[in-house]
Amino acid sequence: MSSNNNKKWFSLNIGRKEKTSSGSCSCGKSSGGCGGSSNAHHMTNEAFTEAAINASIGEERTKDGFEQVFDVKMDRRSAFKKLTASLLIGAGAVSTSCSVISGDESKEKAQIDWEEQFKGNYKLMTDKEKEATVDRLVRSYQLRTGKNISMSSKNAEEDVLFGYAFNISKCQGYMDCVNACVEENNQDRNSQMQYIRIHEMKDGKGFNFNEADDNYYHEVPAQGHFYMGTQCFHCDNPPCVEVCPVQATWREDDGLVVVDYDWCVGCRYCMAACPYDGRRFNWSKPEVPESEINHNQHYLGNRMRKKGVMEKCTFCVQRSRAGKNPACVEACPTGARIFGNLLDPDSTIRWVLENKKVFRLKEDLGTEPKFWYFMD
Ligand code: SF4
Ligand code: SF4
Repeated sequence: MSSNNNKKWFSLNIGRKEKTSSGSCSCGKSSGGCGGSSNAHHMTNEAFTEAAINASIGEERTKDGFEQVFDVKMDRRSAFKKLTASLLIGAGAVSTSCSVISGDESKEKAQIDWEEQFKGNYKLMTDKEKEATVDRLVRSYQLRTGKNISMSSKNAEEDVLFGYAFNISKCQGYMDCVNACVEENNQDRNSQMQYIRIHEMKDGKGFNFNEADDNYYHEVPAQGHFYMGTQCFHCDNPPCVEVCPVQATWREDDGLVVVDYDWCVGCRYCMAACPYDGRRFNWSKPEVPESEINHNQHYLGNRMRKKGVMEKCTFCVQRSRAGKNPACVEACPTGARIFGNLLDPDSTIRWVLENKKVFRLKEDLGTEPKFWYFMD
């Protein structure tokens, strides 16, 4: 594809802005904790989205988080099992939920757990609510471990649309990118979860993923082979987002496709819908030794996940929104990986798209991945 003739990345939802909302409960809760009623009626998806955004500013905010999404009363995940436990743990916390918090740390922890349990969908939160949930998670980590983390809720910036390019001629299959990604993103060490796959393919056989080896243990580069990396491509038309029944995954304005780990119910529809094997599921509780935890986190990125939720590459949102390259780009010793702002005409990624013969995988599906391949 010639990028000069087909500047698809310019027309991909650019300028589409989510509605933002203002106002917050004086008790600081993100949703639902101060009582209130709900209306139970059915809606189309479009009507739901509109209502859910409105919900964050009106009396609808007083709904439980699940009610925000479905507009019906229903359990959240194993919610009422937990609710019973929360009622017991949080009884004291609830009775004082709108008053000054006790100095007792266990009571504080119970209150945090309670507020987190009933918070709303991050996608629908105001900036203030996002900050509040991040503050709670940081404090909760501190209370649990005695250690500090830094967690960002930084939103997408104006005039930024992230894109990625992969130089097939340069990749030598070293997998430094894979290791850097695991460390940066606090991926589970036991299951050896990896967002990136490096596929070793035979020369002269084209891009044959069925015959590729993405689990090789030998010296690289292997003679007669070439290497191709895949990960989440942050599609501009992501089928994974379409199928999520609870809006736990969505596309941000800078093009990042993200997951709210606290909202995901683990149904794995998104995993099945992704044509690029971009998503990973936590079959067990992710474990990272304390000494190896990356304490520089983003709510939508590398914060610690739980058992039973989906995760994937976020183009290292905690780095990219701080003006840095993703860890894989920085770690690649051959310069095979290029990342940048597609809306910046002076960026290297734009230079690649405008001067190299680039292509994307499964273009015919219309998913519009923001991940291009090219060769020197
Ligand atoms: S590559 Fe897969 S997981 Fe990533 S945005 Fe596209 S469809 Fe979703
Ligand atoms: S597993 Fe995927 S589709 Fe299911 S709730 Fe989580 S993000 Fe949504």
